[in-house]
Amino acid sequence: MPEIKINPTFIQEFPTDISYNNLPRATPNRMATLVYPVHFSRAELIIINYELAAEFGIEIPLNSRVEAFLNAQVSEQLATYATAYSGHQFGNWAGQLGDGRAIFAGEICDENQKLWEIQWKGAGSTPYSRRGDGRAVLRSTIREYLMSEAMYHLGVPTSRALSMSLTGENVMRDMLYDGNPKAEKGALMVRTAESFLRFGHFEFAALSSDRSLLKKLTDWTIKRYFTEITSIDKNKYLDFFEKVRDYTIEMIIEWYRVGFVHGVMNTDNMSILGLSIDYGPYAMMEDYDLDFTSNTTDLPGKRYAFGKQASIAHWNLTALANALFPLVNEVVAFQKILDEFEEIFWNKFDQMMMHKLGFEDFIPEKDIDFLKEWQILMMDIRPDFTLFFVELMHWVEDKNNFNPNNFLYQPLTPQQQVKLNHFLENYEKKRNLEQAHKRFNLEIMQKSNPKFILRNYLLFQATQEAEQGNFDLFFRLNEALKNPYSSEFPDLQQKRPDWADGVPGCSMLSCSS
Ligand code: AMP
Ligand code: MG
Repeated sequence: MPEIKINPTFIQEFPTDISYNNLPRATPNRMATLVYPVHFSRAELIIINYELAAEFGIEIPLNSRVEAFLNAQVSEQLATYATAYSGHQFGNWAGQLGDGRAIFAGEICDENQKLWEIQWKGAGSTPYSRRGDGRAVLRSTIREYLMSEAMYHLGVPTSRALSMSLTGENVMRDMLYDGNPKAEKGALMVRTAESFLRFGHFEFAALSSDRSLLKKLTDWTIKRYFTEITSIDKNKYLDFFEKVRDYTIEMIIEWYRVGFVHGVMNTDNMSILGLSIDYGPYAMMEDYDLDFTSNTTDLPGKRYAFGKQASIAHWNLTALANALFPLVNEVVAFQKILDEFEEIFWNKFDQMMMHKLGFEDFIPEKDIDFLKEWQILMMDIRPDFTLFFVELMHWVEDKNNFNPNNFLYQPLTPQQQVKLNHFLENYEKKRNLEQAHKRFNLEIMQKSNPKFILRNYLLFQATQEAEQGNFDLFFRLNEALKNPYSSEFPDLQQKRPDWADGVPGCSMLSCSS
């Protein structure tokens, strides 16, 4: 049994409600509340992430104690708790939110002596469940399990999935929000990250009447997770904010690289470590569209659309700056860090795009027009974002293998054909030119462009089958996602089929989970 720390530092450090009362309520000035998970007596493990378990020193095969732990069946008086946080949802202040269906299960030390937080997700209600039941359905649990692992193997900073179980209970959900709730299988997962601290935790602490709470939380976070920060006083908090900005930029760049749309970039879903967390109505973008949002709740304003994710990250950082403000009391200093966001972001973005196109770096004078031409072409022909680059790699390797039908969702008009041909000719010229300078590198291209992505229609099929007790596709996807840059599993590397167009759960998703 790996060593799970019974007295986690967070609740030793911060004011905690120790009542073990999970009734919905405000817990002002308390950063956490002790809660027990539900004892699902018929819980059944579906999958364990053996690779990750091994890193944690969990022995395989599992003994019954570990199995029970993963199923949230803990009899010992573990100090399991839910944390309080606040947040801005869809641009509006939402007051107290908190872990509504995540419960801290322990901390675990990996083989590199790094500490990981372990949470059960879907193991019952907490004071922060508001009107929710604290449960999770199989559909959303499969989606979080697979996507967090897919992101890890793509190389995107993310929380991880350690296990998934059926709870043996049914849960009522109104998936389409149309007044027709239906019983769905309940599930729970064990997820882990170095920390699940969110911008929202700092927004919560900042609003506390306990004026020392914000400083304490920030000091603790810096000491534990930002050990490279050595400055003191105001500079320490500014350096911290700057670091969070940089982590956030890196995460968003990676989302753009692989075509990930989070769907609910509320400040309570923004990790202070720049990890992708809280996988809900996300999607991997298929048809290129800067305006694409995967979340039906986001439709009116498309606030969280693919192309807006960078500016929303900036908006969220502004909310974090507001929360941290009392620690520094200088607008100008925060403003400077926020203002630098745009330049840093675009530099990194252009660099990342050049990598996708196979070039080592981005030289504005040489490349800006070329990138613009690429962007305009994408907006015009709306190819499958992933498969466009797969075909472009074919073009580089052997033009005879290049087939636009593999990435197009609608036939090209003659004008579009001209534009595509022009781009390809231009690309060819640039490549020949840059090869002489050793700036073109197929390997960079291969590392930057996944071939396998978790498309929503695949997840939809996997969850439909799993609802019927068949987990074959789930397990197959779980294998395919481990080597996203390889050509294994060609049948899973195709365009979205026609039948999936417009099917709820295949293109767009609700928040219901
Ligand atoms: P989200 O929009 O998923 O980030 O969730 C916002 C808040 O609602 C968080 O406090 C969640 O923990 C909570 N929440 C979402 N779904 C449920 C649920 N089924 N039961 C309890 N709380 C939930
Ligand atoms: Mg959330």
